[in-house]
Amino acid sequence: MGRKVKIVATLGPVSNNKEMVTQLIKAGVNVFRLNFSYGTHESHHASFQLIRECASALKKEVAVMQDICGPKIRISGMKESREIAKGDLIYMSKKAEGKAFSITYPHIIDQLEPGDEVYFADGTVKTKVEEKKEDLLVLRALTRGQLREGKGVNIPKSGIKMSALTEKDKADLKFAAQIGIDLVAVSFVESAKDILEARKILKENGSDAWVIAKIERKAAIKNLDDILDAVDGIMVARGDLGVEAGIFSVPGLQKMMIKKANERAIPVITATQMLTSMLHSATPTRAEISDIANAVYDGTDAVMLSDETAVGSFAVEAVEVMVKTIADTKNHIPKIRNIKPEKQEGFAHAAAEISNDVPCKAIASFTTSGYTVKQIAKFRPHKPIYAVTYNKKIIHRLALVWGVEKVFYISPDESEGKMMHQFLQQAGDHDFIVTMGTLAGVKGTTSMVRLLDEAARQKIFERFGK
Ligand code: PGA
Ligand code: MN
Repeated sequence: MGRKVKIVATLGPVSNNKEMVTQLIKAGVNVFRLNFSYGTHESHHASFQLIRECASALKKEVAVMQDICGPKIRISGMKESREIAKGDLIYMSKKAEGKAFSITYPHIIDQLEPGDEVYFADGTVKTKVEEKKEDLLVLRALTRGQLREGKGVNIPKSGIKMSALTEKDKADLKFAAQIGIDLVAVSFVESAKDILEARKILKENGSDAWVIAKIERKAAIKNLDDILDAVDGIMVARGDLGVEAGIFSVPGLQKMMIKKANERAIPVITATQMLTSMLHSATPTRAEISDIANAVYDGTDAVMLSDETAVGSFAVEAVEVMVKTIADTKNHIPKIRNIKPEKQEGFAHAAAEISNDVPCKAIASFTTSGYTVKQIAKFRPHKPIYAVTYNKKIIHRLALVWGVEKVFYISPDESEGKMMHQFLQQAGDHDFIVTMGTLAGVKGTTSMVRLLDEAARQKIFERFGK
């Protein structure tokens, strides 16, 4: 049986070539992440096409996810790097002048007050605002470290007003819509508004790509329920989350977020530092293996590699390690997830349940938006999920969804029989549990669960030919 939990890999200098993309897909990558903190539209377009070409040569469905960088605040106007000792005073101002440096979003300085915390360089240098004068903040260093031009700045205070979409993000979204991206991950989301804004820009440019909220700010945790109402997926972005919420709260927040996403049948990706030791070592640590496995036990739909596949020396091996780790979790997952179905999920739940009791090759879900497929995945059936669709746009996206092993493309038809016939011609003469809707093309109208057994198939073949 195929692997249920999906693998996301970040493309970067070591992997952005035909040979590596091919090897990574062969090893098991389902989704490639293009990190828009780096590169140009031209280079990303080339990567996008490369992934499509390699996947199609291997006859695999692989999704491409754009990751827009959002308002990552950075130090600006700092001429020389500075060693900071605990207790030092640091001057941060709207304008870099004298001993004061500035930041890329200087207006935020207005929103900080004495007592607020400001972290630099991935949280290594922690400071507290001691004094506020006009456009200048005096910060006291609580830890030691190094500050340098371009280093990241994190402000854990929630309620800071900062649009999640920068001008660069907006241009990047427009570009992604034009090339036909499958998934978009939005960084530093604060509220559902950020997601709606991203969706609007995509839509204006002809795209209905799935939008994934990266949960990495305290405000996003506070607004999580609203965000979940607006997204197609979330990412537990443990890197920045660890800085903003504190590393010790990351495991608990991960469990909470995964649980909420699972309850709503929303795909969730667990990300960052999953196999950091494999940047330089061919073998992972036991702790890393446990982390990946535990993310699966928490209920994650996908696990992600960042630097490991972007700049690491063992990119393909890292994917292989994930594949093997996921394989071993299989024996410990309960048969049907003990989550009560929401009303409209009855059919998905029934299909998942029946598939465990009745001999069948797979659950074949006829879907237009992917909605029913996600609902079926929610109940974690042991049998593979096959998605059958005439919506070309979702073929690649479904690669992110837990348990989806194959996607079949059929042409739309009024007749249920003809649609099943098209599916059987591709999938072969086997028993399937089928879910289908009455209103083809309308999201959430699945209204039928059926066993496509020998007798049923016989009838279809008699009518429409073998
Ligand atoms: P990043 O997001 O790698 O783009 O920062 C993931 C994270 O913060 O964990
Ligand atoms: Mn991040």
